[in-house]
Amino acid sequence: MSELFYTTTRNKDLKVTASQAIIKGLAPDGGLFVPEYIPEFKVSLDDLKDMSYRQTAMEVMKLFLTDFTDEELKNCIDSAYDDKFDNPVIAPVKEAGGAYYLELFHGQTIAFKDMALSILPHLMTTSAKKNGVNDEILILTATSGDTGKAAMAGFADVPGTRIMVFYPKGGVSNIQERQMVTQKGNNVKVVGVNGNFDDCQSAVKKMFADSKLNADIKEKGFVFSSANSINIGRLVPQIVYYVYAYGQLLKQGVIEAGEKINITVPTGNFGNILAAHYAKRMGLPVDKLICASNENKVLYDFFKTGVYDKNREFILTSSPSMDILISSNLERLIYHIAGEDSEVTASLMKDLSEKGRYEITDDMKAKLSDFYGGTALESEVFAKIASLYKDTGYVLDTHTAVAGAVYDKYVKDTQDTNRTVIASTASPYKFAHSVLSAIDKAKYDGLGDFELADELSALSKVAIPEAIQGIKNAPVLHDTVCDIDGIEEQVRGFAQ
Ligand SMILES: *Cc1c(COP(=O)(O)O)cnc(C)c1O
Repeated sequence: MSELFYTTTRNKDLKVTASQAIIKGLAPDGGLFVPEYIPEFKVSLDDLKDMSYRQTAMEVMKLFLTDFTDEELKNCIDSAYDDKFDNPVIAPVKEAGGAYYLELFHGQTIAFKDMALSILPHLMTTSAKKNGVNDEILILTATSGDTGKAAMAGFADVPGTRIMVFYPKGGVSNIQERQMVTQKGNNVKVVGVNGNFDDCQSAVKKMFADSKLNADIKEKGFVFSSANSINIGRLVPQIVYYVYAYGQLLKQGVIEAGEKINITVPTGNFGNILAAHYAKRMGLPVDKLICASNENKVLYDFFKTGVYDKNREFILTSSPSMDILISSNLERLIYHIAGEDSEVTASLMKDLSEKGRYEITDDMKAKLSDFYGGTALESEVFAKIASLYKDTGYVLDTHTAVAGAVYDKYVKDTQDTNRTVIASTASPYKFAHSVLSAIDKAKYDGLGDFELADELSALSKVAIPEAIQGIKNAPVLHDTVCDIDGIEEQVRGFAQ
């Protein structure tokens, strides 16, 4: 098989292997790595229904990560998708209210980030070995709640790596903070920062670019890397579950081989839905990709008008992982609809960073016809949680409910009867307070986090996941708090 190389969205002259792209994460010019072409899917659709998650992962990932041997890839896959997941199917598909929910929250931190972050550490250490990188990889992560915990759970005690997570002290939910400060592992460190998420994020970005700091830690035997969602080592594993979902629908007799499905994704940074787009381009029979936004509807406006404009008020919603005004991974889609033109992409991204907005051409807009953008108000999200529970007993988390509400609007709008998979990105246990308030505000008002978990269990008839159970009495292992200008000192102290 010929090797698939990666170039970047902003510089066509840069060309690296898959493993090099994984180690680097982001291109030096700020561009994102993209495959030179999207490989075609090799397995017949009929065979999909009998393939396990691991087998599906192998078939998909080997087409993108061509410089990994089958054995290397198999080791990564086997180490990631094991009994860390509380469901042997890994990502089950469940019908409720006429839609097919692809549950991506059965991993260690009960959010979909586990799907990629449980394999990224293995891809990264394998990549380091292949490229003769002998330094220890030091992952720096700023988090608004979900990514930090999922990244730590993935990297904990992985030889050759260390991970440091910075979160805004007082800026994450109680459950999220407890999840992080109780994290075990000899190579992890969690630091609360007196500042907001943007402060943490900027400080981390500055350290990646600081040549003196990079040289100093190199002397101690470390290199920085990123577990952020722009890493292709996170994107490629996310293609797998859409292919797997198709196989499950075949197996359940819901569709016939070749029948087109739609996919609805609750979207923030545009990584998850981009993976669905790649699955379609690989040859999976997919019709519409429905991009669901919460009240931060910058993507909805973009699909409608062709103008991306982040100059607007940032709204805090009950789906915080989608509260985002710069969807980083959209840059990859822009690159593709620009006809793989890195100059056009670079110039639009320059507009974004200088003016906070850019506009695509009519030609580019015409290439977005696969996508349907939708948005849901907070009231519509809560109404969706309540009505689906009342009708079926199935309980959605707030992020998935944004997708559910948008999908309902899409059907009303288009009368489209294609079977539709909805990416279910978090367990309702992670957002029990919002979810139960949506169902019966008065009844659950004033209850503590763990009482709410008991109530949710009684109501949904789903056992409390270990991710919640396990933090109830777990000892606090991290209590470091620092100011913004103390972050670098923390990093220097950890890189010893
Ligand atoms: C990260 C996240 C999202 C958004 O996914 P993107 O790939 O950034 O679009 C949606 N829901 C949950 C629960 C998340 O953690």
